[in-house]
Amino acid sequence: MAESQKPASFNESGIYFFNDDSNAVFLDPVRVLNRSYNRFNVSPSTYYPRFFESPRNEPLSTTVTTSEQQPKRKRKRNKKKEPPPLNAREQIANRRHQEARPLLLKAHESLLQCTEMLDVLRTLRNDSCGCSKREHESVQHSFIDLAREVLHLEVTLNMPLREPQQQLIEINDDFANVQCCEQRVLPAFNNLVTNDTEDDVVAEILNNHYIVPRQSCFYMSDLGQIRNLIPANADSGFNLIVVDPPWENASASQKSRYPTLPNRYFLSVPIKQLTHTDGALVALWVTNREKLRSFAENELFPAWGVGYAATFYWLKVKANGSLIGDIDLFHHRPYECLILGYIAGKVNNSSKHSKFKPVKDHHVIMTIPGDYSRKPPIADLLLDYVPGLRPPRCIELFARELTAGWVSWGNEPLHFQDSRYFVKR
Ligand code: SAM
Repeated sequence: MAESQKPASFNESGIYFFNDDSNAVFLDPVRVLNRSYNRFNVSPSTYYPRFFESPRNEPLSTTVTTSEQQPKRKRKRNKKKEPPPLNAREQIANRRHQEARPLLLKAHESLLQCTEMLDVLRTLRNDSCGCSKREHESVQHSFIDLAREVLHLEVTLNMPLREPQQQLIEINDDFANVQCCEQRVLPAFNNLVTNDTEDDVVAEILNNHYIVPRQSCFYMSDLGQIRNLIPANADSGFNLIVVDPPWENASASQKSRYPTLPNRYFLSVPIKQLTHTDGALVALWVTNREKLRSFAENELFPAWGVGYAATFYWLKVKANGSLIGDIDLFHHRPYECLILGYIAGKVNNSSKHSKFKPVKDHHVIMTIPGDYSRKPPIADLLLDYVPGLRPPRCIELFARELTAGWVSWGNEPLHFQDSRYFVKR
């Protein structure tokens, strides 16, 4: 793509490719997500609650942060103890880090040298218009608590007007304020709820509103019911399966953001049965804990029947372009990994693996992180590798949001669909 076309293309797609031959991209999740909606925009200020605060107007960072380059602190009198030697697992983690480090730094350097992107970064959080006050004041529902407390929770879908002659229902409400022709009342839990229209639908649960993008479905349930998603025919299975498990880690449970599960539970996720006859690309988010990485590669992928294909990195930056933390900090690396693999479909035998398009390894996807554990929407970067017909059938497991054309499953797939995260167009 010509250099001059890049800013316009980024504005539309939310994705900026630094060089045609480089694996580095910068992504603005707000712009990417907005492509799922017709009448609403994701609110940048609610998408980006962190990493924009700069107490004393930090100067634009033009250098890479590594432990060697940290400002030198005054040495304490008493000599610092040598760190204990790395154990076997830590040594493997360190090897992986040393392999990723130059790629990550090179990608970060591309960002720091791109003044037009650095200028854009600082403005990413600017809202075009504010969300109504009432939406911010209402209490956000916890679907995890509601599943325990309410036996039959209902969701009302305000279906948009399709034909001019259809009878209108005016929803008199600050936010919804939509003209709709039909209200569908459905069970909110353990039920496939679908917006089969080409427009956004405003759904209502206990007086809160949720924006459901066109042609999207959600199934809100505990892992125990995930088998209800298995299609009767494998040709209605999925070609792209994105999985972001609630891995056990101190941060998620200490902050009680969401419940976590021991690793063995993920072995029972029926990836094989969810796979389309043409096969699927499986994308699994893992943190940097070596225990998880090795579990994912050596136990989980084999149990699911997935053959490893490549690793992508998600590198997290602040609004001034600097990394969110020291790249060498052992337990708080400023990046996470997405491991990719292929699974053959039912009619295909395992030799079909070799026919899948080889995935270009080591993509580095840079973003300013959103809310805690919210992953960037990376599907566009994967589509080239997804087997089967177009458009592919896509599903996100352990989802907290919906995407146009996708099925989202988890115990709180409407979490980021709450209208507080949106502004009207
Ligand atoms: N990908 C999501 C995002 O970008 O916002 C984050 C997913 S988070 C890592 C894991 C999700 O799994 C949380 O929403 C959590 O509530 C959900 N979860 C935890 N235990 C579950 C269970 N037993 N059944 C279904 N979902 C569960």
